[in-house]
Amino acid sequence: MKKVITMYIHFIRLLKKQCYYNVITFFILFAFSLLFHTSGYAFELISPVQEGSLVYGKLDVGERIRYQGEEIIPTTYRAFVFALPQDAPDQIELILTRSDGREENLSFKVRRRKWNEEYISGLPPQKVNPSPVDQDRIRGENRQVGLARSIFSRHAFPVCFEPPVKDYNRISSHFGSRRILNGQKKAGHSGTDYAAPIGTNVYAPAVGIVRFVHDDLFYTGKTILIDHGYGIYSSYSHLSQINVKKNQKVDTKTLLGKVGTTGRSTGPHLHFVLSWKNVRVDPEAMIQQHPCAQRTPQKGISKENNKSENN
Ligand SMILES: [Zn+2]
Repeated sequence: MKKVITMYIHFIRLLKKQCYYNVITFFILFAFSLLFHTSGYAFELISPVQEGSLVYGKLDVGERIRYQGEEIIPTTYRAFVFALPQDAPDQIELILTRSDGREENLSFKVRRRKWNEEYISGLPPQKVNPSPVDQDRIRGENRQVGLARSIFSRHAFPVCFEPPVKDYNRISSHFGSRRILNGQKKAGHSGTDYAAPIGTNVYAPAVGIVRFVHDDLFYTGKTILIDHGYGIYSSYSHLSQINVKKNQKVDTKTLLGKVGTTGRSTGPHLHFVLSWKNVRVDPEAMIQQHPCAQRTPQKGISKENNKSENN
């Protein structure tokens, strides 16, 4: 607005001076500035729209965004994040409300990934098919973890993650691998497994607050849950030692604990999970392809403006 007033004053001055050439130039510039103003597209996604990934975006002042019927709460800097699960639909829709109240449906094509199949055998049968008593225990533990995970805190979320284990031997299982445990088909692997000797240091991958610490969960043994803000959580399983306390603030220099093989595990490794509101995403993708390393602005296809598009 300030710009428009300044231009208007400038225009009156030019008229008084009767500089007609300048008046014409002024009109051309003014027309251009209006064009850019009305087509100014502040909303932007700044990371790939890919299944099994966190998707980051930004909004303009007064803009709001909804996904699957729910508003995504932006930070004070108008950044926002949501997640697409493994096997997300081919296309997703976001509803953008402009600062003047206009609504736009934006659709995005979801980038597909290939997922492995993994065969794991030699697990104790009671850990593949838990007994009724164990099932009760698992339900109780899931409730505790779910409760810790349900806290939605508004501390600035990270867009960059570092590997939680620096000295690992290999990644023994990738996120999303379809697992066949003792010959039975199970859901895709919920995280990344870093195989490393017992006692290897585990660090926080980004800033956050420890929300949950447990010494002996049925599946995950010694476990830590970290809240990274705006629905992003990470968890650390099968640890041999825990070095942090509930509600402790952490950053990438914080030693969380040590690699172990507690809970349902076939050998020493860290099972590392990254999620947004219970949607698991691929930690490796977020470590390697985070928006800090690769900015790929995507503005989406407005249905109103592009009715002929078929994607
Ligand atoms: Zn795992």
